[in-house]
Amino acid sequence: MGELIQPQKTIEILQKYKFHFQKRYGQNFLIDERVMQKIIAAASIQSDEFVLEIGPGIGTMTQFLCENAGYVAAVEIDQNLIPVLQDTLGSYRNVEIINNDILKMDIRSLVEEKNGGQPIKVVANLPYYITTPILMGLFESHVPLKSVTVMVQKEVAERMKAVPGTKDYGALSLAVQYYAAPEIAAHVPPNCFMPRPKVASTVICLKCHEKPPVQVKDERLLFAVIRASFNQRRKTLANGLHNDVQLQLSKGQIQYCITGLGLPVSIRGEALTLEQFAKLSDMVYAMIH
Ligand code: SAM
Repeated sequence: MGELIQPQKTIEILQKYKFHFQKRYGQNFLIDERVMQKIIAAASIQSDEFVLEIGPGIGTMTQFLCENAGYVAAVEIDQNLIPVLQDTLGSYRNVEIINNDILKMDIRSLVEEKNGGQPIKVVANLPYYITTPILMGLFESHVPLKSVTVMVQKEVAERMKAVPGTKDYGALSLAVQYYAAPEIAAHVPPNCFMPRPKVASTVICLKCHEKPPVQVKDERLLFAVIRASFNQRRKTLANGLHNDVQLQLSKGQIQYCITGLGLPVSIRGEALTLEQFAKLSDMVYAMIH
């Protein structure tokens, strides 16, 4: 079990199938067992759980998931990897290989069909070129989730965890923290992958909230306000909101909202907490309705 994690076994299987890495799919395969064990421990998978793996590659992590979970759905875009996966996962009865683009799939329906709509766990060594669309897609389409344990670029993990007033804090921090509590599980250097990526990586576990930590009248509006506030990073919150074509707020309206929160009109978006953005969003809601 799990022997693919050894670099020599990975090389053997790649040669057997004459596999060529495709840069455009962010293919960097994990070859470090200690890191793999940390991912599996962080995801804390139980034997009755449904796990969705995004981008199984040659099935290295999938083997570990199959050993621990009740059922694994592994979604891989690269059709050249499907025969490989059929081989490396051939001895498992609790896995389904799906050849598709994760961004084009209706994951809610999959969870409904395969897990009776009950919350699932997502575990993945993500393709870095689409980290944010994948995570936001899962959250915004309200896929029932217990946790999302993912390998991402180190800087992206830092942005997810960032707190107000720091350089990394922004729309991604607020979006992730609205849906989940992020916890760093491991830092992973490039030599743990084949081929080596140019960047350092981090495993982050996002423990999903049953209920968001703030309640708002309109979730879409909250994220529209957040995006507008960070669109022009060095500008004030007031300017960011005013320049947003979608929101169409006058300077007077914006000043009224900001001072109504007890904040100075010169404040920048990066100083506001999620709670303050929620209040701001509800004030904007009251104004436009
Ligand atoms: N899980 C493997 C591992 O840890 O060794 C491979 C991880 S590799 C970083 C990312 C994987 O995601 C690749 O197998 C790649 O082909 C796949 N992938 C890239 N874009 C995808 C997409 N849009 N939908 C599904 N899989 C994708």
